[in-house]
Amino acid sequence: MQLSRLLIATLREDPADAEIPSHRLLARAGYIVKTAAGIYTYSPLMWRTLKKVAQIVRDELDRESAQELMMPILQPRELWESSGRWERYVADGIMYTLKDRKGTDLCLGPTHEEVITAFADATITSYKQLPVNLYQIQDKFRDEIRPRFGLMRGREFIMMDAYSFDADAAGLDESYAAMSRAYHRIFERCGLEFGAVQADAGAIGGSGSEEFMVFADAGEDAILRCSASGYAANVERADSIAPAAPSGGDPRPIEKHETPDIRTVEQLEGFFSMPAAAMAKTVLYEVKYAESEAVVAVMMRGDLAINEVKLANRLDCLALELASDDKIRQATGAEVGFAGPVGLPEEVRLLADETLRGATNLLTGCNETGYHCLNVNFGRDCREPEFHDVRLARAGESAPGGAGELEEVRGIEVGHIFKLGTKYSSAMDATFSSQQGKPEPFVMGCYGIGVSRTAQAAVEQNHDEAGIIWPPAIAPFEVVVAVLDPKKDEQTALGQQIYDRLRESGIDACLDDRKLRPGPKFKDLELLGFPFQVTVGRGAADGVVEFCERRNREKQEMSVDEAIAKCREALTAPAVS
Ligand code: ATP
Ligand code: MG
Repeated sequence: MQLSRLLIATLREDPADAEIPSHRLLARAGYIVKTAAGIYTYSPLMWRTLKKVAQIVRDELDRESAQELMMPILQPRELWESSGRWERYVADGIMYTLKDRKGTDLCLGPTHEEVITAFADATITSYKQLPVNLYQIQDKFRDEIRPRFGLMRGREFIMMDAYSFDADAAGLDESYAAMSRAYHRIFERCGLEFGAVQADAGAIGGSGSEEFMVFADAGEDAILRCSASGYAANVERADSIAPAAPSGGDPRPIEKHETPDIRTVEQLEGFFSMPAAAMAKTVLYEVKYAESEAVVAVMMRGDLAINEVKLANRLDCLALELASDDKIRQATGAEVGFAGPVGLPEEVRLLADETLRGATNLLTGCNETGYHCLNVNFGRDCREPEFHDVRLARAGESAPGGAGELEEVRGIEVGHIFKLGTKYSSAMDATFSSQQGKPEPFVMGCYGIGVSRTAQAAVEQNHDEAGIIWPPAIAPFEVVVAVLDPKKDEQTALGQQIYDRLRESGIDACLDDRKLRPGPKFKDLELLGFPFQVTVGRGAADGVVEFCERRNREKQEMSVDEAIAKCREALTAPAVS
């Protein structure tokens, strides 16, 4: 490819909405052009990169015997009703829905569990056909609340989604392990620094969900990890050992104290000269279930925080949010800041975190404006709450097992693997005939990779002040042969010759024959970020060129043969095992 024939539209200025380096650079280098919020056109160069990422994904999934297929983007409502997800996705607002000319409801696929489960039901009849692992690479549509950061959070984006079908849980374990292996190879080949971390598995629970995170400050996910034990988990899922609290001692008589305008833990600490760990705050949530809504009170030690993802899982609800001031007044009969277990109306469900199990003589609210109680004891002064682990793990606490301390790092979720079990196959009555001849629901796993997000994550990890530094495996071109002055015949001829020889060696090279002055040309190439550059300039007559690696920008003069050998050597790195 001659760059003079390629549509390249680099910008002088950063786009105003680009908040993070990778978005800024991809837009400025003309790789992506915004069509609407969260919707992008990929330039010819970007499309080359995206196809390379997709090809790596294909190679590695095929190595694990997964099979590529293609499902429809447009999906009927009735299919989503068979899994019971239509209402939820519509309520969440994440799904694009539309009507056809007959008034039938449809959606644009945000994910494909329903379609694939129906497909498996129609095509897999016997246990003899299992296991089966099916995937596609396709545009997904999600009406994100905050589309931003370019391709990181788009409303239309490219995803690889795979679905495994097994006869039993042991089979699923194997399919899941195979996908985990493939994912490791995929992200390694893409040149990313990443890790697999435990992820929230929703209300289904279990240990079967991991996210593949690219470590970067711009990441939207918080990860807690411990280098001593190797523990790593999304903060939504993470556990820790809570710091110890002072012992409350034997139960003492309850005391009600006037606490005018003392509402927060900090204020109470000052007012009672008591550590936060000796109090329990009571937080009210409005909780949505499929058929109903409720207010739930959650007690947490004063020095600790509630993890709302864990809470939602324990409650097995559709959604929850902090109760409004009005709802709090209605439910407790008191102003905000005085809720507590003492005198809490029976209809309000009461949960407490595990760290409060066995606690005595707590300081809590008592649902009376302007009052708090000292020496509150469960079962005596109020009902016994339901104890659950709903605590937010935090950096600085001990990792589970106690081997070391948790530290927080930011991550970009590029992939997700998930053991579904029979959630969808049972709901949709998708079965195969077992060895005993009985119909059994498929045991399923689902797996996703954000192909477009992965490409941008590579830029987030690989750039400098001058521009992008593509990892070779996903660079739009591996080598650019830059002809300094295309008006000089010997430069053009030598450039063409090097380009041809590189191509013959199987290297994905391009020829920069654009009639630009050397300054702007080099600047442009640094921004575009091809990993290697061979520059043909004044030395052309003597067969001398300049070799430069984009990553360190060091230039070295050498013969044509040496430069070609350098490129070959750099680009035939051993494959990931
Ligand atoms: P997130 O938590 O970032 O919203 P998710 O957990 O909802 O993502 P999954 O349903 O697990 O996403 O989708 C599989 C993969 O698709 C994700 O791991 C991510 O790489 C990618 N992805 C999800 N949403 C987007 C998006 N809006 N834009 C780009 N890629 C996305
Ligand atoms: Mg996910």
